[in-house]
Amino acid sequence: MPAQPQPRSLPDTWLWPHSAPGHVALRLADQHFIQVLERGPAALHQAVQRQALQRLLAHARQSSPWWRDWLAGSQLHILARLPVLQREQLRASVADAGGPLPMPPAHGGARKGLTSGSSGVPVDFYVSALAQRVSDSHYLADHARHGRDLRRLFAGLLTRFAPHPGQPHQVITGDRWLGMGPMVGRNSQQGTIREHAQWLHDTGPAYLNTAPSVLRGMLDEIESGAVSPPAGLEQVLTIGETVDDVLRQRTRALTGASIRDRYTCEEIGPVALQCPHDASETPAYHVCVGNAVVETVDESDSPCTPGQAGRVLVTGLHHWATPVIRYDIGDIAALHPRCPACGAQVPSLTQLLGRKRFLVRLPSGERKYLKLTGKDWLSILPVREHRLVQDSPSHMLVELVVERPLTASDHETAQAMLARVVDPSFTFEIRQVDRIAWGPGIKRQDVLSLV
Ligand SMILES: [Zn+2]
Repeated sequence: MPAQPQPRSLPDTWLWPHSAPGHVALRLADQHFIQVLERGPAALHQAVQRQALQRLLAHARQSSPWWRDWLAGSQLHILARLPVLQREQLRASVADAGGPLPMPPAHGGARKGLTSGSSGVPVDFYVSALAQRVSDSHYLADHARHGRDLRRLFAGLLTRFAPHPGQPHQVITGDRWLGMGPMVGRNSQQGTIREHAQWLHDTGPAYLNTAPSVLRGMLDEIESGAVSPPAGLEQVLTIGETVDDVLRQRTRALTGASIRDRYTCEEIGPVALQCPHDASETPAYHVCVGNAVVETVDESDSPCTPGQAGRVLVTGLHHWATPVIRYDIGDIAALHPRCPACGAQVPSLTQLLGRKRFLVRLPSGERKYLKLTGKDWLSILPVREHRLVQDSPSHMLVELVVERPLTASDHETAQAMLARVVDPSFTFEIRQVDRIAWGPGIKRQDVLSLV
């Protein structure tokens, strides 16, 4: 565990009474406001959401012919009367705009994001600096919600950390204005699951941020006795996939830590964060009312009754670069008007079902986390849908729906990308198809392991 560095001198910007840099002041104000909304009466966040929605809808109609057509004839003051947006339509809206929608200067510039989640259907979109700040501030506020002491060692085991060959992880300097110590980040696709479990033991963080499938694999290694459990782990923050009660129980039994899950989507960021007061194995999640509106609907797109499981629709309140309004993200959950566990007056989700990912087994017998993103595909080919099926220890069937016929050189490029991102020890059989047989149910799975 890296020693906590003792500051010898203060940064130039530190003064007391302070003149905090503007971005720090905004972060602190955001965190405060997020907690005020979460703890306040329902009328407060409802008023904030109503105002944000009306501004968003006015902007979308004014800045985009696609959105003007899409919303034509709708009663704009009632969200539930607006049409449900599917992935195909989100893609069409972005294609029509040809980039981010023009925004007022307060939203800042836009970055491009690419996602296929676990659904195998890539979509590109744009996120403004303002929307990114709101997302980041929700994650920061979540540390305070769950009582984390950020001076203690915080470790990330995620695909978003760049590879660090020859090193166990990267060391990232935390923002001292926000009370953060150094963090360590390890790329979750770089090594095997057993190597990750050994790293977790050797590093000994208080908090770990990782994907549920990676955690599940590491618990297998600990349970089998191949690797010793880490000491001092208190909370495992999870993201990106469904966490079930079995994973919560096993994590507690094998490491002593509790899981604190975040429900997010890449297009708008945090959607609902685990209730900090619910220690059950099936906790509720408070909707991030400062960032998103969440609805649940049945098969005919009618609103579900409270507690009835249905399809989750999300609306990003500050996402003006690529508006995301009543977007069907392909998950199932039950929505309650307030938290059934702690009574907070924000809408809350239970029975979150849906996203499950698989570890692939390498021909060597070791297991590995695999995340092939829309970015990996769209950087080489106009892929509409993709799926990888491991059907034998060394063979992967790669099904692709592509906008044009694949050439021999496309095959070579795809083979090279797969060997680099997945593993060179597999044989990849690339098959261009008209459609992928996703099977029953609306949940799609972009990686399947049958071995
Ligand atoms: Zn609660």
